[in-house]
Amino acid sequence: MIEDKFDAIVVGAGASGNACAYTMAKLGLKVLQLERGEYPGSKNVQGAILYADALEKIIPDFRDDAPLERHIIEQRQWTMTETSHVGMHYRDDSFNEERPNRYTIVRAQFDKWFSRKVRDAGVTLLCETTVTELLRDGQGKVIGVRTDRADGLAYANVVVLAEGVNGLVGERSGLRPVVTPESVALAVKEMHFLPREVIDERFNLKGNEGVVIEAMGTITNGMTGTAFLYTNGESISVGIGCIVSDFEGTGQTPYGLLEAFKNHPSIKPLLAGSECKEYAAHLIPEGGYNSIPQLYGDGWVVVGDAGQFVNAVHREGSNLAMTTGRIAGETISWLKTRRDPATAANLTEYQRRLETSFVMKDLKKYKNIPDFLHKSGAHVFTLYPRLIAQAAQTWFRVDGKDKRAKEVEIFNSFRKGRSLPGLLGDAFKLARAWR
Ligand SMILES: Cc1cc2nc3c(=O)[nH]c(=O)nc-3n(C[C@H](O)[C@H](O)[C@H](O)COP(=O)(O)OP(=O)(O)OC[C@H]3O[C@@H](n4cnc5c(N)ncnc54)[C@H](O)[C@@H]3O)c2cc1C
Repeated sequence: MIEDKFDAIVVGAGASGNACAYTMAKLGLKVLQLERGEYPGSKNVQGAILYADALEKIIPDFRDDAPLERHIIEQRQWTMTETSHVGMHYRDDSFNEERPNRYTIVRAQFDKWFSRKVRDAGVTLLCETTVTELLRDGQGKVIGVRTDRADGLAYANVVVLAEGVNGLVGERSGLRPVVTPESVALAVKEMHFLPREVIDERFNLKGNEGVVIEAMGTITNGMTGTAFLYTNGESISVGIGCIVSDFEGTGQTPYGLLEAFKNHPSIKPLLAGSECKEYAAHLIPEGGYNSIPQLYGDGWVVVGDAGQFVNAVHREGSNLAMTTGRIAGETISWLKTRRDPATAANLTEYQRRLETSFVMKDLKKYKNIPDFLHKSGAHVFTLYPRLIAQAAQTWFRVDGKDKRAKEVEIFNSFRKGRSLPGLLGDAFKLARAWR
């Protein structure tokens, strides 16, 4: 057996598990954290943008020593075809504020730092330890975990499942359903290394300023998905991901899409001369609100990706992971202070607190977007990007055609491409899903 009984056992040392373990330890709880990887972060993949607000609520002075790459001063949103991109760029010098709002990070380094904070707060962390099943008492209440260690049993008042999107413990224990191919994206990512001054020059940056590009369009070959490019200190993260069920039967591979994206005329010059040193693939839960499983029960709660907490529309995941981890940690500590047991009835408080947070409000707001994209993906990711690029070409080319004729040509190209009822229908469906 692993020592005596703990207040809580946290399964996983990713963003959600670290946030939860740290919060509970700071509030005086005795916490055991189990991580299957060689070290925290060794199994984790992210773009990665860090949203400061979520971390600041857990570690207010994180900027003092966290491994932050660049703070983001420019956001580029691109709609792409094979040869073009139409972009919306937002750059503001006011993002050079004292406490920047968004940073790029490298997850392996960041997770190591976060984990050190967790251990400094008093959490017992065991790496290379896989939780294989949950232990229950005669009434079915979860009372601990079995691990793959020789002395493999550990007991606690509550077990926090922070095991990520494809964590098997909750699934095997019947606490949450098997993740469906329609509700997860498979993403691949590479790190391309370049000297800092080359990145600065290429993206018009100084100091620790950074740029991120989020892209969609024909780059996903009709599948629902997006691509990204983020500037780090001395590297560029580039990746792409699509819904798993969309890959089925197409013969397309995530790696093939990434190669095509890197060779796109708008991307290739940004990576020119770089050396690719890292490649990773990972799932992202993108089913949204409707795919959130039961989040608590007698002696257990679920946080982070394991609870499908990702806002795919805004590409936010780590902040939802940290926030759900923090809220779960605060709830468990609150129950302890009141001497209330971690029963399902008492843990409804976790759900109640989640409902009042931005996490549930945002996911609820976009709850019909996955269904909209599932049904209209071919138009959103292929037809409209082509029509938008064609419209831009018509509009910006100076060729002797009068401007009224150009407006008519653009309008007709949309009408021909999708028909008037089709256009109105898509606009209506999008507005309904977005509200
Ligand atoms: C390519 C890509 C890009 C992304 N970009 C962004 C971004 O830019 N910004 C953003 O906010 N989010 C992004 N995300 C999402 C973000 O990475 C996740 O939402 C976040 O990491 C979820 O944290 P988590 O702690 O729930 O899960 P994870 O970080 O996956 O951690 C789960 C941990 O549990 C461990 N574990 C699993 N099973 C067991 C077990 N049985 N026993 C012990 N340990 C176990 C794993 O080893 C792992 O360390 C991206 C994701 C991907 C894949």
